[in-house]
Amino acid sequence: MDWLLPPGARRDNFWIYSSAAIVGLAGLVKLRHGALNFLYSETHCYQSVRTNQAVYPYVNCFSVSPGGTFSKVFQASADSKLVQNADPGYAMPGLWDGHGHLLQYGEFLNSIDLFGTQSMEEVRSRIREYVNDNPKAGSREEWLRGVGWDQMALGQMPTTADLMADATLADLYIMLDRVDVHCIWVSQAVLDLLPDPIPDVDGGEVVREPGMGVFCDNAMDMVMALWPKPDNKKKQQFLQSAMSKLNEVGLVGIHDAGVSPGNLELYKTLAMGDDWTVRVYAMIECYERNTFCPKEVHKYVDPGGRLSIQSVKLFADGALGSWGSALIEPYTDRPDTSGSLLVNASELVYVTTAWAAQGFQVNIHAIGDLANRYAVDAITAALRLLCPGQDIRACQSRLRFRIEHSQIIHPDDQARIHSVGIIPSIQPTHATSDMAYAEKRLGGERIRKEAYRMRSLLDVQPILGSDFPVEPPNPFQGIYAAVTRKSPHTGQAPEGFPNGWYTEESLDLDQAIRGFTEGPAYGGFTKGKSGVIRPGAYADWVVLDRPLETMAIEGLRTLNVRETWVGGRMVYKRD
Ligand SMILES: [Zn+2]
Repeated sequence: MDWLLPPGARRDNFWIYSSAAIVGLAGLVKLRHGALNFLYSETHCYQSVRTNQAVYPYVNCFSVSPGGTFSKVFQASADSKLVQNADPGYAMPGLWDGHGHLLQYGEFLNSIDLFGTQSMEEVRSRIREYVNDNPKAGSREEWLRGVGWDQMALGQMPTTADLMADATLADLYIMLDRVDVHCIWVSQAVLDLLPDPIPDVDGGEVVREPGMGVFCDNAMDMVMALWPKPDNKKKQQFLQSAMSKLNEVGLVGIHDAGVSPGNLELYKTLAMGDDWTVRVYAMIECYERNTFCPKEVHKYVDPGGRLSIQSVKLFADGALGSWGSALIEPYTDRPDTSGSLLVNASELVYVTTAWAAQGFQVNIHAIGDLANRYAVDAITAALRLLCPGQDIRACQSRLRFRIEHSQIIHPDDQARIHSVGIIPSIQPTHATSDMAYAEKRLGGERIRKEAYRMRSLLDVQPILGSDFPVEPPNPFQGIYAAVTRKSPHTGQAPEGFPNGWYTEESLDLDQAIRGFTEGPAYGGFTKGKSGVIRPGAYADWVVLDRPLETMAIEGLRTLNVRETWVGGRMVYKRD
C-alpha cells in the first residue's frame, strides 16, 4: 500500500501504526468487515466533486475503501480541517470511452503516425523518419506499420508505386492502415507475397486503379494472414503504452470493440497486474468475422471490474470514407455503388441469436442506413426468439443489444430503435471528422434526416466514445464535438455552418458528460458501479483545474487533466 498521499488526501486510520492496534485488527476482521473498511479508508477532499448522482450532484469529499470502491461520499463543513486542507482541484467521475481499440491504439503509438498527411511525399518522409529511429523495422519478420492516411487528403488512392518512389523504402515490408482502419496500403515486398493474379474478395475491395496496393474490408484478410503478428511480449508493451495514454486524458475504462479469443486470454493474465490501469469491457471478435465461436472464448467478469468479457462484436458493413458502408440508395458522389454488406441478413440474425442465447450482449457495427436496418432487423429477431411472448422493450433492457456507430439511420429504423430501446454507440468526433465530406457522399437530404444523430437518440441511452485510434481518445474533445458540432482540432465547422454542423443534433454539456460516464455504464452492465461517485461504486475519478460546468466550451479543446485515479489508486499525475 502506498502511504505517500497527495495533498488533500487524509487517512482515517493513523492509529494502525500502533502495533497493539494491528494485533487488535485480526479480531476485527472476523467481527466486522464493514468497520474495518471504514477504519482503513482514505478520504479525499476537493473544491467540489461532481457525483453524477441526482440526489447530491455536488459534494466536496469522499472516502475510498481498501478494496478500491467509494465508501462514503459527503459534504464536509467549510470550517472543517478536511475542507481547509482540500486539494485545489475539482473532481468528477472517471470517464469511459464506449468504443475504442486498445491493442490497435498501443500499436499505433508504436508505429508511424500518418494522420494529417497531405501528400505522398509527406507520407514517405514520415516513414523515413520512423526508419531512422527504428532501423530494424521493415524486415519480413517485423513489418513497418502505420495508420492515418486518407486518399482524400492525399489527392488520390495511393499505390504500391507511391512507396517505391523512394529507393530507400523500396525493399521494405510496409503495411499502412487508412484513417478508419478499413483499408490497408502495402509495399511491393508485401504484394509479392500474395497470389498472382490477386483474386477479388466478397465484402471487400482489391483496389486496382490507379494501381495496385490498397485492400479494403474483407480483402484485407489475405494480407493480414501474412503479417507476422506481434508476440505477447510486444502486445503487453502496446497495452501498457495505450493504457498510460488513456489515463493521461482522464479515461478510467473503455469498451474494447473487437478482441480476438487469443488476445482475451492475454488480457486475462494481465488484468490483475499493477500495470492494468484501465478497466476493459471487451467485445469478442471471433477469428473469422461474424461467426459464432463459443468454444474459443468463455464469459469472464472480474468482480473487481478490471476486465469483463460478456459481449460480442459483429460487423454489418465497412466505413463511409472508403464507400464501404452499406446504403439503401447509392452514394451521391458514386452512383455506381451503394457500398457493401459484410454479412447477409439471415446470417446476421443467426449469429446474433446464437450468441445472445449463450448470454452474450451483441454489438453490431453499422454505419450505412442499410447496415443499420439489418442490425435492427437482427436484434429485433433475436429479441423475439429469446423472449417469446414478452415485452420486447423489457427483453432489450435486460440484454442491452447495441449498434456500434449508428451513423446513418433511415427514419423508419430510427423509429424502431426508439420503440425497442436499442442502444446506439456513437462517436461525436466521427461526425466532426466526416462533416467535411459527408454531405458530398450522402447528399443533403440523407444528412438532414438520417446522419450523425445524437440529441434525437437521447431517450435510448447513447454511449459515447471515440473509436481510438481512428480518432484521438481524449473524451473532453468528444464532449466538445458533441456540444458544439465543431472540430475539436480546429474549433470550426464546414463553410456555411458558422455555429456548428447541424446543431439540432448537438447535446448539452451534462448530456455529453453522461454519454462518457452513465452511457457506457448502462451499455456495459456496470450502472451504479462506474461513471458515478457514490458509495459502492469503483473509486475512479479525475481531477481538473476547473469544473467543466464553469469553463468556456472552447477550453475543452485543450484541457489537460491534473490527475486520474482508478480503484482508489493514482494512475496519472500531470507534471
Ligand atoms: Zn471501431
